[in-house]
Amino acid sequence: MKEVLCPKCGIRMEFMAETESNSEGREVRYFYRCPACGARINESIMKILKKDSSVIIKVLQ
Ligand SMILES: [Zn+2]
Repeated sequence: MKEVLCPKCGIRMEFMAETESNSEGREVRYFYRCPACGARINESIMKILKKDSSVIIKVLQ
């Protein structure tokens, strides 16, 4: 995993993920967050769509 430094504080940011469910399926967002000031940098967004019995994974970023 690459190291990302906060643009404000210059310290190492934490890699985190959050998920959100809706009627289409689920969205997973990966991002870096600074533990000191809370600044956030989005890394990627993944959409997991359920269609019938299959699952489609889309990477948006
Ligand atoms: Zn910071």
